[in-house]
Amino acid sequence: MTDIPVLTYSPLPPNKMELTAPSSWRGENGKGGEIAGGNDRLPKAFLPKLKDEIFFSHKVQKIVQHENSVTIHATHTKILQPFQITADRVIITIPFSILQFVEMEPRHSFSENKWKAIRELHYAGSTKTGIQFKTRFWEKEGMFGGKTVSDLPIRYTQYPSQGIGTTGPGVVLASYTWEDDTIPWDSLGDGERLEYTLKNLAVIHGEQVYREFETGTSHSWVRYRLSPRFCVKRNGKSSLISPNR
Ligand SMILES: Cc1cc2nc3c(=O)[nH]c(=O)nc-3n(C[C@H](O)[C@H](O)[C@H](O)COP(=O)(O)OP(=O)(O)OC[C@H]3O[C@@H](n4cnc5c(N)ncnc54)[C@H](O)[C@@H]3O)c2cc1C
Repeated sequence: MTDIPVLTYSPLPPNKMELTAPSSWRGENGKGGEIAGGNDRLPKAFLPKLKDEIFFSHKVQKIVQHENSVTIHATHTKILQPFQITADRVIITIPFSILQFVEMEPRHSFSENKWKAIRELHYAGSTKTGIQFKTRFWEKEGMFGGKTVSDLPIRYTQYPSQGIGTTGPGVVLASYTWEDDTIPWDSLGDGERLEYTLKNLAVIHGEQVYREFETGTSHSWVRYRLSPRFCVKRNGKSSLISPNR
């Protein structure tokens, strides 16, 4: 596997709008970290070794437990061709909320307790809206990376920590919400999310946000069928998921 450089940075002193610091997101001493060049470099680094063993674009539909083996039945998502593979053992990492739609034969391959944990594991919603502006106007206001946390519906705004001081466009994670704070956003279409995000940002940065606006995009994990949300363990559910339960 190739070496992946990891960048670390220290968030700058919080600006005046900041009310809370999500310290659980930071590493030791308040430092954050990132993989230089993008997080997708991590899975891509495994590709040279694993590429012949990976079957992309296959949706698992059914899992059949035999006496000494397991068969996975899948469908190719583009050409719709059925596919199956049998192995001694299978490790399933499909999110539990989706696993409930996968047929399990026989159903009692999993204990009632395990089905209960699969049903009840809490996944928290999250919504992010990113906006590209023509210039990095926030740097003129003293935001060099860092974030603004407010009680506006956008809640959490993160300024880019790369390319500080450069001219030209910059992208801001204009709104980041999770748990109940996602609810006002999840019911909106992408266009409306941009509209209201800009409106909220204008409260912080003024009308310049409209003049500087270039484009934007938004993603609601609640509405994304393949990878729905944060998994938040509650009520000791993880103890029900252990191999011998
Ligand atoms: C907005 C957001 C921000 C987050 N920020 C952080 C963070 O800063 N730090 C952190 O540690 N964690 C963070 N998390 C949590 C982290 O992303 C998840 O815990 C992690 O991705 C879970 O990994 P996973 O492999 O279990 O599931 P996923 O990453 O959801 O992967 C599940 C995979 O299963 C595939 N799949 C689904 N259905 C099928 C099917 N029927 N057949 C075959 N494949 C299927 C999907 O395509 C997907 O590739 C964040 C999550 C969100 C939503």
